[in-house]
Amino acid sequence: MSHSKAASIFNKDEKKVNWHDKALWFVRHKRDKSTHTVAGWEELRNLGHGIKAHTLSNLDTYLIQFEENALKNGIQVHWAADGDEHNRIVHSILKEHHAKKVVKSKSMLTEECHLNPFLEADGIEVIDTDLGERIVQLAKEPPSHIVLPAIHKTKEEVDELFQEHLGTKPCDGDPQYLTGEARKHLREKFIQADAAITGVNFAIADTGGIVVCTNEGNADMGAHIAPVHIACMGVEKLIPKQEHLGVFLRLLARSATGQHITTYSSHFKKPREGAKMHIVIVDNGRTEQLSRPDFRASLHCIRCGACMNTCPIYRRSGGHSYDATIPGPIGSILSPGKDLKKHSSLPFASTLCGSCSDVCPVKIDIHAQLYKWRQIITKETPQPFVKKTSMKMMGNIFSKPMQFNKVGGIARWSLRNLPKGVINSKPNVWGKGRDLPIGPKESFDTWYKNRKKDE
Ligand code: SF4
Repeated sequence: MSHSKAASIFNKDEKKVNWHDKALWFVRHKRDKSTHTVAGWEELRNLGHGIKAHTLSNLDTYLIQFEENALKNGIQVHWAADGDEHNRIVHSILKEHHAKKVVKSKSMLTEECHLNPFLEADGIEVIDTDLGERIVQLAKEPPSHIVLPAIHKTKEEVDELFQEHLGTKPCDGDPQYLTGEARKHLREKFIQADAAITGVNFAIADTGGIVVCTNEGNADMGAHIAPVHIACMGVEKLIPKQEHLGVFLRLLARSATGQHITTYSSHFKKPREGAKMHIVIVDNGRTEQLSRPDFRASLHCIRCGACMNTCPIYRRSGGHSYDATIPGPIGSILSPGKDLKKHSSLPFASTLCGSCSDVCPVKIDIHAQLYKWRQIITKETPQPFVKKTSMKMMGNIFSKPMQFNKVGGIARWSLRNLPKGVINSKPNVWGKGRDLPIGPKESFDTWYKNRKKDE
């Protein structure tokens, strides 16, 4: 299903759309306030961009350095070329340790690799321990946002879900009661877990350590209780040195939720005494993206979600309409690189207003990359007949001033005189929910020339 079709399903519930839009705009505001408290925020963004660009240009060196140091620390390191290999590696580690119950803290990589269904098919219980992730897991839905996975759910919906799955009492969506119940439920799961899986926010080449950021402390709970900790990371999570961490921690928390620092920035450098620690380093299309000069900067992404919170299309179409692990503007750059045909509608789900690029903490030129994908997609995939023909016609009109003036006159007259039902008739999809202005009597060109004459 194309993005616009999927979005039209989300758009049926207007109340929810308005609420979703407002909720994310609120987070965007928090981000703005928080970034304005940092003198030199722009320098910090430049620094983040520069460190990421340097790391990606020397990825081979830093990956090897990271592996060497992690091994020295007693961590077992595994390499996976794709999602299937990643899943097989995690599965074999769990088998080796006879692990049947797993707690997992938020990891978009394991979502991307579809790890949960893979493990569940072999009878392994996987519990997502981030509250938002647990909510969508119970609802049997994918996350709709990378930082706020259940942002599309109202508290009343969560209330119903918890009654059904956790046996809670009806509470009119009382957030305090619901989080208290989730806490009790998850505590049990942490205590029973045979293994913990976490994502990785940053992997530091010169120490061989990793950093995981959460607001709920669930990564720490899992990794500190279970006898086995498996951390799964994409190759792009590397930073060269410990001293670079401060740059990214400051950028990440402020851009994501407007916090000055994430509540828990947990450093894991070696296994606990008597426990095991594994790191699975995954490519899954990342080096291919690195090889595309126009799109390699998309690998700078630190998954803060700011581009989603600010995007007018994302806010009013919801994360599920992107049908991709990473939704929103950055997802619309990453997904076509994986499957151009399936995700060909995503780069068009943008106003190209550039707000995403303005808020991106690592200065990815998101809107410019979306525009580049559009050009590639238009050339490489079949375009609908109506779109192809109308674009050709428009090209023709725009390239000939006489014709342009004639058609402009007809359009202005039509806007002034034809009934709205004709202007916004069914074939005019653009007119759905939008009102065109009343057409002016003269063109800008005529107005300008007359004004000049009067002067
Ligand atoms: S592209 Fe930039 S703004 Fe969007 S999630 Fe990644 S780092 Fe954040």
